[in-house]
Amino acid sequence: MEGGTVRLCHKHSVFAINTDGRILHCPIAVSEKWATAGHIKTGLNGVAPRLKDKCFFCEYRHVCGGRCLYTHYENYWGEEGFDAVCMVTKKTIKILEEEAPG
Ligand code: SF4
Repeated sequence: MEGGTVRLCHKHSVFAINTDGRILHCPIAVSEKWATAGHIKTGLNGVAPRLKDKCFFCEYRHVCGGRCLYTHYENYWGEEGFDAVCMVTKKTIKILEEEAPG
């Protein structure tokens, strides 16, 4: 089972454990250095994933969580693409919150 991962959750932190012992912030990013959270033999490295500053001031972060880490580290779609997905995310959360039974 080389390269397989197991996802664990401790309160609000979610980790994946790779079969080589690495602890990862993302179960998909198995070769990206930014995803390394530690190793099962040495523990966590204390480096938390870095989100864009705009997420820290966003009123929807408590639900969104800042989305996929690839979005923050690889920036595939640039700021314009990031903001476009944010707009859809915020609108979706707002609709769901308004329609949720009280
Ligand atoms: S909606 Fe956008 S800005 Fe707000 S927390 Fe999610 S990713 Fe960050």
